[in-house]
Amino acid sequence: MPAAYKIHEHKFDMLVVGAGGAGLRATFGLAQKGLKTACITKVFPTRSHTVAAQGGVAAALGNMGEDDWRYHFYDTIKGSDWLGDQDAIEYMCREAIPAIIELEHQGVPFSRTEDGRIYQRPFGGMTTRYGEGPAAQRTCAAADRTGHAILHTLYQQSLAHDAQFFIEYFALDLIMGADGSCQGVLAMDLAEGTLHLFRAQGTVLATGGYGRAYFSATSAHTCTGDGGGMALRAGIGMQDMEFVQFHPTGIYGAGCLITEGVRGEGGILRNADGERFMERYAPSAKDLASRDVVSRAMTMEIREGRGVGEHKDHMLLDLTHLGPEVIHEKLPGIAESARIFANVDVEKQPIPVIPTVHYNMGGIPTNYHGEVVTLRDGDPDAVVPGLYAIGEAACVSVHGANRLGSNSLLDLVVFGRAVANRCAETITPSSSLPDLPGDACDAALARLDSLRNANGGTPTAVIRDKMQRAMQADAAVFRTQETLEAGVAKIREIHASFADVKVSDRSLVWNSDLVETFELKNLLDQALATIVCAENRKESRGAHARDDYPDRDDANWHKHSLVWVDDSGNTRIDYRPVHMYTLSKDVDVVPPKKRVY
Ligand SMILES: Cc1cc2nc3c(=O)[nH]c(=O)nc-3n(C[C@H](O)[C@H](O)[C@H](O)COP(=O)(O)OP(=O)(O)OC[C@H]3O[C@@H](n4cnc5c(N)ncnc54)[C@H](O)[C@@H]3O)c2cc1C
Repeated sequence: MPAAYKIHEHKFDMLVVGAGGAGLRATFGLAQKGLKTACITKVFPTRSHTVAAQGGVAAALGNMGEDDWRYHFYDTIKGSDWLGDQDAIEYMCREAIPAIIELEHQGVPFSRTEDGRIYQRPFGGMTTRYGEGPAAQRTCAAADRTGHAILHTLYQQSLAHDAQFFIEYFALDLIMGADGSCQGVLAMDLAEGTLHLFRAQGTVLATGGYGRAYFSATSAHTCTGDGGGMALRAGIGMQDMEFVQFHPTGIYGAGCLITEGVRGEGGILRNADGERFMERYAPSAKDLASRDVVSRAMTMEIREGRGVGEHKDHMLLDLTHLGPEVIHEKLPGIAESARIFANVDVEKQPIPVIPTVHYNMGGIPTNYHGEVVTLRDGDPDAVVPGLYAIGEAACVSVHGANRLGSNSLLDLVVFGRAVANRCAETITPSSSLPDLPGDACDAALARLDSLRNANGGTPTAVIRDKMQRAMQADAAVFRTQETLEAGVAKIREIHASFADVKVSDRSLVWNSDLVETFELKNLLDQALATIVCAENRKESRGAHARDDYPDRDDANWHKHSLVWVDDSGNTRIDYRPVHMYTLSKDVDVVPPKKRVY
């Protein structure tokens, strides 16, 4: 072990890694329950990607028409293409109502109806009466800056409840006990280059998604899946990694997002002939069919030569008919993004858009308490003691094969809150922590030392660029055995090329070169996990659409994929059953049927 590294030790009841919506909801809740809680985050809390969420957060409040959480439950299962765990979906949709009312009381400045209630807009796949009724107005919004509003409120509440923040600290690795329990995290203070061992009775991973494994993504450059990387290194398998959501409306060229809320407010997608083509693909839901359906329809239009522009490679999102009032009041941020990134005045011209990587349905498997689970001795639901995961880093699984818009912000607050509630019951404040063996941090330190001194021939950015391009080309909206096999081979080769990485800065003080290298390794492991699972799954379900297996195959594939990736890039795949049971008698299990909108 490199002896030169001094480690500062900190002890807490609970440790949260990540200060996005999920991490802050957990931090605030844990502190409120009287647990001494630390939150470490690589970016300033209110710069987490959640700040960019525009459209809103789903909850069947029924403020603007008929609604019921059981309709939301049904829609989420259908949206998931029956891969979601129905116990967890029941929990999320029922708890959505108190969780959102709590957010309102904590100070989130939601937009309002005439009579002062929370404003709710329609969103893709959200219906009433178990899909038989009209579209539901279920998505609670603070104009088109809902994530911003939620994140700021939760940060303020965390500070008010005396949670302790370690800002611009980068978590390197989980520290696991000999019994397989999580004992804490080794992290680096980016500004000073000092190392810190955070010990806690429970560690919550809330590190967000890994959208940056792809070339064009709506997610921030910080979305590098560090929690998933840490979990894989700790020997924990990741779940349903083949399911990557493409959002139909990323701005062509720039990749940044135009919220589905635009279509919720009446925006229309058009092809080169000016046709509202979604009428052909989803006769009843039209532009508000779920995201996988709309993204595929757009890709089909482009393939069949009806794309827009010189290269006939994108579509148009038209909101010129909405009028300046709706645009100013409900979609001001979109008007600004369209002006800056597409040079378009949305009152007069349509926005050029293209399906863009947006969300990772897969992640670290958990139960509905947020406890990490793994396959152990034949038990698919064995809990990993001391470890929790929430938010986009986790796979509960409430989104299954395809997440409905506005269900992610909901997942953050519901399961952030669930972890706090669970730990309030299971953890005794100020209990002493077991002693760790002297070599507990050795593996993490050795990894740090070897990357810091990595002296190969390929800069980090070169490897990252190759990975992003290969993923974009071969793990895309439509997939075939041929493209996937080629992709697996390419990603394996790129993964192996990490052995030749070159880090030029040897210092530990604000070494962005080193941090990007840690992030790249986390991305590479998850890119590999994604593409091997995609190649393995011989069916089409939700976001995973294969030309060569166009149908869903429940007989063989109604199961979650689990994948392990070791340091050298060896992969192993196994499965967990989908939970086809509910928590109460208030809802019935929804058996699989054909998914049409
Ligand atoms: C542009 C955009 C718009 C969206 N709009 C909506 C919407 O309207 N409705 C909806 O429901 N969903 C939306 N989504 C999805 C949703 O916003 C995200 O899934 C969600 O915000 C993720 O939150 P999170 O708390 O899991 O992670 P993030 O908000 O990504 O936060 C991750 C946190 O982890 C920390 N972290 C990561 N790695 C480390 C490390 N190694 N060490 C220390 N800290 C670390 C970061 O500092 C950060 O604080 C949108 C997503 C995007 C990209």
